Amino acid sequence: MTPRRTHIVGAGVAGLSAALAVTADGGEAVLYEAAPHPGGRCRTLHPTDGFDHDNGTHVLFTANGRALDLLRTVGARERWVEPEAKGLPLYDGRTGEMRRVGLSPWSWLLPSRRPQGLTLSDLMRIMRLVFASKDCPVAAIIGKRPIMDSLIEPLTVAVLNTPPDQASAQRLACALRQLIRPGAGRLLVARNGLSQDLIEPAVATLQTRGVPVLTGQRLRNLLTVNGRVIGLALSDRTVMLGPDDRVILALPPYEVERLLPALPVPTQFEPIINVHYRMEGLKHPRFIGFTGTLAQWALIRDNHVSVTVSAADAVVDQNAPDVAARIWREIAPALRSLGLDAHPDRQPEMRVVKEKRATIRQAAEILPQPPLRPLANLALAGDWIGSLPATIESAVMAGEHAASILHHARGTRATLVKDRALKTENAA
Ligand SMILES: Cc1cc2nc3c(=O)[nH]c(=O)nc-3n(C[C@H](O)[C@H](O)[C@H](O)COP(=O)(O)OP(=O)(O)OC[C@H]3O[C@@H](n4cnc5c(N)ncnc54)[C@H](O)[C@@H]3O)c2cc1C
Repeated sequence: MTPRRTHIVGAGVAGLSAALAVTADGGEAVLYEAAPHPGGRCRTLHPTDGFDHDNGTHVLFTANGRALDLLRTVGARERWVEPEAKGLPLYDGRTGEMRRVGLSPWSWLLPSRRPQGLTLSDLMRIMRLVFASKDCPVAAIIGKRPIMDSLIEPLTVAVLNTPPDQASAQRLACALRQLIRPGAGRLLVARNGLSQDLIEPAVATLQTRGVPVLTGQRLRNLLTVNGRVIGLALSDRTVMLGPDDRVILALPPYEVERLLPALPVPTQFEPIINVHYRMEGLKHPRFIGFTGTLAQWALIRDNHVSVTVSAADAVVDQNAPDVAARIWREIAPALRSLGLDAHPDRQPEMRVVKEKRATIRQAAEILPQPPLRPLANLALAGDWIGSLPATIESAVMAGEHAASILHHARGTRATLVKDRALKTENAA
């Protein structure tokens, strides 16, 4: 009897999570990745000039239980550190003031951690947001108030990568309900980098479980017969499936649409720009938020500072050096106040990374969603599946869920098919 194998396409966080779930109790899996390296949108870049940095800063919260469990499984939980245990420093580019803000509402009991301008009426609006029963843009609940600028907008673009005048209140509420639990609002970053502190440990764990991670293998086509996958046409080979084999597509929605064109998938995306300045930083990572500037966040590592502009539609097509120069002038005073040798007129060497389809646009509307098992032996995964914010946490959950659906599904096994002619068919 041939063993049952799960073929997982896409070695981003969702694909790695699916592979870990499939193999947790002895299942067999193989991963195919189009790029030369695993990690997808969550990875470290290693250019030839030796200036290594992540594609973009990623944060986790202690509320992200499934992502943290995955880190524990691969022995990397301790590599994610809390840079700002005393509350997040927020720098106001208009006034030059720096103050700390607690991300957990419980910390607001201390006046020194309260968002600027917080009133009782703001608290009531935040509660309405947290328990939003009907969807609408975040801005429709909060309105134009100081709290929007000092807390809600930075939080909304950080979590949903969509501006508050469009962002879904209900999606944000899913994250806020997790964050308000005591102890859940602590912000974590990878101490060294995304590949070293997440992707490589996950791949190493899979390798100890005998899972091949085959890079440079783009899935060109699915070969299907009678509503089930019988083969994978990859970059340089075609893999025929055994009768018990399953497939998980852990791919972005536009790839799922190309492979299975009849499926409804989200089609709108939001960009994120990251500018990485090569300079002497700080041994222990620091993390600052900005208001009144183009930049929203900066992560300071020992040899560079990475600055994030989320929901970056307005600037993504602008000349990259101009964007980097503007950001540098705005943030240099804040970096200086943390002890870095940063002067607005002396911009260090930098690199700009534009992720044009960083996440789906998470607007206040019903986003198209495909069935999770569109073919008998195929399930979908990816951060965009479901109604949670599209983040590492949702990618981990989607990977685990896809593995579980196939494990428990009936009718994934092939029955004898008379017509063995291969065809690529539209699902759904
Ligand atoms: C700049 C930036 C900042 C972010 N910040 C945060 C953050 O702070 N916190 C957070 O939680 N999340 C953040 N995210 C989101 C997070 O990166 C994603 O939610 C997560 O990485 C998605 O993982 P995924 O596996 O679903 O998709 P992907 O990472 O897109 O993985 C899909 C994989 O499939 C591969 N692939 C595509 N087509 C094929 C094919 N035909 N055949 C084979 N392989 C294929 C791709 O190369 C890729 O490796 C950020 C994203 C970006 C871009």
